[in-house]
Amino acid sequence: MKPQTLLDQAVTESSPLDITRLLTTITTNLVGMIYRCRVDTTWTMEYVSDCCHRLTGYQPDEVMFNKRISFDQITLPEDRERVRRDIHAALEKNEIFEVEYRIQRADGRVCWMLERGVGIRDEYGRMVWIEGYMQDISEQMSANEAMLEAVRRYSSIFEHATEGIFQTAPDGHYLNANPALASIYGHASAGELIRHLRDIQHQLYVSPTRRSEFMERMHEKGEVINFESQVYRLDGSIIWISENAHTVRKPDGSVLFFEGTVVDITERKQHEAKLEHLASHDSLTGLPNRSLLRDRIDQAIVKARREGSKVAVVFVDLDHFKLINDSLGHHVGDRLLLEVAARLVTCVRSHDSVARQGGDEFVLVLTEQHGDTETLAIISRLLEVISRPWMNDGQEFGLSCSVGISCYPQDGDDPDTLLRCADAAMYKAKASGRSTYHFYTPELNDAINERLELENSLRHALERDEFRVHYQPRIDTSSGRIVGAEALIRWDCPGKGIIPPDSFISIAEETGLIVPIGRWILQEACRQNSAWQRAGLPPISVSVNLSPIQFRHAGLVKSVAIALQQANLDPAYLELELTESFVMHDAERINVAMQSLKSLGVDISVDDFGTGYSSLSYLKRFPVDRLKVDKSFVRDIDTDPDDAAIVRAIITLGHALGLKVVAEGVETQAHLEFLQQHHCDELQGYYFSRPVPAIEMGALLGGLQTCTPLQAASGSGMGNIVPIRGTAS
Ligand code: C2E
Ligand code: CA
Ligand code: CA
Repeated sequence: MKPQTLLDQAVTESSPLDITRLLTTITTNLVGMIYRCRVDTTWTMEYVSDCCHRLTGYQPDEVMFNKRISFDQITLPEDRERVRRDIHAALEKNEIFEVEYRIQRADGRVCWMLERGVGIRDEYGRMVWIEGYMQDISEQMSANEAMLEAVRRYSSIFEHATEGIFQTAPDGHYLNANPALASIYGHASAGELIRHLRDIQHQLYVSPTRRSEFMERMHEKGEVINFESQVYRLDGSIIWISENAHTVRKPDGSVLFFEGTVVDITERKQHEAKLEHLASHDSLTGLPNRSLLRDRIDQAIVKARREGSKVAVVFVDLDHFKLINDSLGHHVGDRLLLEVAARLVTCVRSHDSVARQGGDEFVLVLTEQHGDTETLAIISRLLEVISRPWMNDGQEFGLSCSVGISCYPQDGDDPDTLLRCADAAMYKAKASGRSTYHFYTPELNDAINERLELENSLRHALERDEFRVHYQPRIDTSSGRIVGAEALIRWDCPGKGIIPPDSFISIAEETGLIVPIGRWILQEACRQNSAWQRAGLPPISVSVNLSPIQFRHAGLVKSVAIALQQANLDPAYLELELTESFVMHDAERINVAMQSLKSLGVDISVDDFGTGYSSLSYLKRFPVDRLKVDKSFVRDIDTDPDDAAIVRAIITLGHALGLKVVAEGVETQAHLEFLQQHHCDELQGYYFSRPVPAIEMGALLGGLQTCTPLQAASGSGMGNIVPIRGTAS
């Protein structure tokens, strides 16, 4: 049974109600203190209940009639005035007062009091006493204080956070926002933002469906994490934000509001977009790169399949780009590529693509094609646009390109196949004279396979000893004597016969096989030359062609030295030929390499002179001994005044620089006469001899070959010149 209180007893026993006892019971059991005091300057206590001691640390008789201390003294000085004011204000209005203030207990501790009371008037109606009750509320006060402190702390976080913080109602308006959110969205204050944004879905989100997705997730999962969207700022600009938010529900489960944070991720998004662009675009031209090109072809195929149209993949390769790049340097090459890219873009429509496949290769993806005629119209425009002259640094360049075309659906239905077919068609266009186009046909595959087969056989040619060296004599113009021979490689490929260098040198260069092959021919030429000398034949200089790839390879100088040493050949009898276009490229570095070759004691000649874009100042500084006029200028020397002028100029220039000038491709009596007349130093060509095997060359050197001294056609003393016909190529 529940223990009965005294009050219960009093009532249930239905004994007469003893009010005095009842009050005593209450006052002694109360946690607070009942009092009566005077309305005077010290709040003189006339009565305090026993609890006074618990509350203040003073015994009741110590405070009654201010025996030891008055209540005014107990009250903290800073609260006294307020307490007095508030109590008097209530008394004047005959109201109950309620004040909170601090006292200092007898033990020195400060406690919070809550005091309630009423004024009591005397028989004359004067407000003389107060009767009331006070209790210790220190605990509540410190709990309140802690709560206030927490509120202060959180609101400080809210106010000063760099993240935007919000509470929004499900209907799409703001309940609360912090200054950071206001500034992210371009508002002067949170208040302004809350007033302005009444419809988040349509006023804030660039894509209103994003808000629907936000709501959906909030309803389903109760939260969103790193939810990224584009939103409008007040000034209309668009930014990217990332939101983290959760749903706050009422106890009955219905949604009260959403709250969360917002960060501005525009910068990160821009950075990501930049990276993505870099990964999918060519850094020089800004055009889509290889990987994006594949995507574009894929998309075009999907679209064409849907619409029943065709796609043309057009492979564009600049003619002679390597020449310009090698002779004038990468910066000019780059400028040219930029120009070509810009020109190509003008040839296509907005739904087509132009991409850079790499190097000087570009690919166009033409969509919505319906037949070859339509495609051809674009191609002929392209060939015309590209062939317009290009001015660079006051120099005019003629440009042209070779174009290969493959089509979806007939040639393939995936990017790789279409690109491979267009590439094959482009090679065919190049082979048929450049500056032209070619559509893919299945037979072109055979050509590709053949090339692959050649490449494969070439890998084993060296170890199978299939290379041969032929020698073509070089004649001294005034004496008519053989003063040198050019070593020219041939490949005796089983089943294919003798393959000329033009058919495999480029493959050897692309595959790097040129390095061991070049080393071999150096050794072979030195060995042969040394053998002729040991056989007592008149000593001559043998020249060996060097590929730029060999030149870039670190071991070149060493292999030349080793070849000379192994053959025991005087370096004066070895000459190295470098093509002009290569020599002019990266001139400084090449000059250094040439100097170290030169220091071995060998001669250096510049081959195919006139086809590159030489800078005279470089030529002067290079340790060069000979210029070999390219045979394309010699061919029409007697009929084309331009070619005649060029060759004359080269001879004059060479002599001015103290170099010997050699003409190659001398085929006729007329060539000979012209070159003699203009004092070209040395001559090489079919007119004297084709390149021949070593044994025939030896015979020529020994004078065993039948020679017919030339009769002076014009009586200009050419009696010494000996045309000698070789039997080989
Ligand atoms: P090149 O260095 O300009 O060699 C001269 C080419 O002109 C040779 O072709 C030669 O047979 C040809 N020729 C000689 N006289 C006449 C003539 O009177 N009329 C005409 N139309 N042509 C003539 P070949 O032997 O087919 O060599 C072609 C190219 O292959 C060479 O051009 C050279 O660039 C390269 N080559 C040849 N052998 C080697 C080699 O061992 N290493 C390297 N890296 N390249 C080589
Ligand atoms: Ca040569
Ligand atoms: Ca040449």
